[in-house]
Amino acid sequence: MQKILNYINGNYCDPISGDWLDNYNPSNGEVYAHIANSNINDVNAAYKAARNAFPAWSNTPIEERSRILLKIASLIEKNMLDLATAEAKDNGKPLSLALAVDIPRASSNFRFFAHAITQFSSEAHESVGLGSMNFTLRQPIGVVGCISPWNLPLYLFTWKIAPAMAAGNTVVAKPSEVTPMTASLLGDICSEAGLPKGVLNIVHGDGPTAGQAIVEHPHIKAISFTGGTKTGEHLARTAAPMFKKLSLELGGKNPNLIFADCDYDTMLAVTVKSSFANQGQICLCGSRIFIERPLFERFKKDFVTKVSKLKVGDPFDAESDLGALVSKPHLEKVQSYIRLAEEEGGTILYGGQAVTVNGLENGYFLQPTVIEVFDDQCRVNQEEIFGPVVTLMPFDTEEEALKMANGVRYGLSATVWTNDLNRTMRVSKQLEAGIVWVNTWLNRDLRTPFGGVKDSGVGREGGFEALRFFTEAKNVCIKYE
Ligand code: NAD
Repeated sequence: MQKILNYINGNYCDPISGDWLDNYNPSNGEVYAHIANSNINDVNAAYKAARNAFPAWSNTPIEERSRILLKIASLIEKNMLDLATAEAKDNGKPLSLALAVDIPRASSNFRFFAHAITQFSSEAHESVGLGSMNFTLRQPIGVVGCISPWNLPLYLFTWKIAPAMAAGNTVVAKPSEVTPMTASLLGDICSEAGLPKGVLNIVHGDGPTAGQAIVEHPHIKAISFTGGTKTGEHLARTAAPMFKKLSLELGGKNPNLIFADCDYDTMLAVTVKSSFANQGQICLCGSRIFIERPLFERFKKDFVTKVSKLKVGDPFDAESDLGALVSKPHLEKVQSYIRLAEEEGGTILYGGQAVTVNGLENGYFLQPTVIEVFDDQCRVNQEEIFGPVVTLMPFDTEEEALKMANGVRYGLSATVWTNDLNRTMRVSKQLEAGIVWVNTWLNRDLRTPFGGVKDSGVGREGGFEALRFFTEAKNVCIKYE
């Protein structure tokens, strides 16, 4: 059986306890690897390696750090097929998606921050009256912790570790125990790229033990976390008394506002994607669709027709639009929300059933599911399901659309479909979200700030925001005569 080992100080190693977790292939329900079940001792070893690597790495010229990160980016590209295959097997997502999105983006994350760090600058303020000059140093923090979820495994793991390392920090990182495979393959790539030992240390294991040990570690001074809101709350409670710097990218329940004046065909095609890409397991998926009344019946019919043509199947079949959900507990959670929708009086317009795929009878496959709801405050419309389930509701006025869009605890992203420029501005300004897309979805420029408001998180990643997070600003004031 394949083993997923920790990567500490440039070497792959067993967990100190000798304990292992099962790693499942969600397409067939079988255990295909064992994951290091790390605890505080492994985290301590990773911390020590990172601490020892910090002085040299933080003093390495930016050009050299950048060169190594670019090498990692190239090696990810060179290993594209192997990494994408590992991701599809581990996560259940279609191989085509891993090849088009996940792995190219992991490479772009390294390339982007390798370049960004060479352009990262700070401010100077001359106080003429006081005869003093201030300049701001942006210094790496030291050893930082990065913790990532299972939905976009290598994509989100690298989205954190790349800026952390670019800024001169050394890292103790933990990928999700549900999808650890591609992060574990990254160790070899980093070694081959010449990343000095100890700059990146990858510890595998479950959240409450390995993750908690990273967050509780007294000398890991900053934590960048992406995951569920409940976990984020717990993490914040642990880290706050230790005054750690925290970046929290949490859950969402994103609205999709469709106005009658939109470009209908483009909207329809993109809305199918924004609903069901990656089996609906993207924090940015638009899971609540609000449609202006004159368009409602037409949209309902056309949307269901399009969704019914999506193929759920083997992630390795090029024809599959949706693969398997990531795990059995997650499948059961999503199914429980479909039952709840019916109990709450919703109408299942399409889907709702598990899918049996030939040769993969024990896989966690589910139909894309479209539910008409009649009260935007029902639980199915309020709670994050994080699967291939969307709700539809009509609206009559812009005010009503905004009220429903904002009427949730979350505020990650929102999508608006309209050709009215004035409305675009009005609505974008009033939406309670960190990211608003108008007439598009998941259109990402890595220079832009990324993150949520309300219960979707604290802080921003992306571009210089990430580099600011992973550095401490220190003002130096020099008095001159
Ligand atoms: P999760 O919160 O269960 O786990 C995320 C990570 O945290 C995992 O690595 C896990 O092992 C770790 N963890 C769990 N308990 C911990 C603890 N006590 N201390 C430290 N680490 C701990 O989330 P998940 O189920 O893996 O991911 C799905 C969630 O992530 C969804 O809510 C989704 O919206 C969210 N998400 C958000 C974004 C974003 O950018 N805002 C992006 C992707 C996913």
